[in-house]
Amino acid sequence: MRIGILTCSAATQESGCSSVSCLHDLRKRKGEFSRYANDESLDLIGIINCAGCPTLAGPEKLLNRIRSLVEFRVDAIHFSYCMDALCPYKTKYRALINEHFPNIDVIIGTHDAHVTHEQFRESVKELLCQPRRTMVEVIKGK
Ligand code: SF4
Repeated sequence: MRIGILTCSAATQESGCSSVSCLHDLRKRKGEFSRYANDESLDLIGIINCAGCPTLAGPEKLLNRIRSLVEFRVDAIHFSYCMDALCPYKTKYRALINEHFPNIDVIIGTHDAHVTHEQFRESVKELLCQPRRTMVEVIKGK
C-alpha cells in the first residue's frame, strides 16, 4: 500500500507538530493503520498539510494539495488525527476527493487517540491562543 497523509494546517503549522504520532502508528500498524495486514508492504509516499481553512477557493486549493500525493500513485490518503479531531470540513473534503479520485481510499484518522477529541481540541485552542509577542510589540518597543 502506498500511503499519503493529509494534515490540518491549523494544527501543524503553528504547533511545531512533526507528525511523529502519525508516523509512529504507521510504523507499528496501530490506530487507523491496523487495517493493513502485516504481510502487506506499507510505504509512506508523502505528507502534506491542507491549504488552510477554506475561502471561496477552498475545494480547489485542497485538490491542488491532494494532487501532490496522487501524482505519486498513492493507494490511500489518511486524514491525520488532528484533522479528524479539529476539521469541520473533513466529511465534505472526503467526498470531494472521492469524486475526483475514485480509485483512492480516503480514511479519516491516523494514530490512536491519546486523549478524547474534546480534550485535544481544548489543548490545541489553548496552544494557539497563548499570549505571544508580535510585530506590534516590536514596533512599539515593548
Ligand atoms: S480546513 Fe480543516 S484541516 Fe484545513 S486548517 Fe481548517 S480545520 Fe484544519
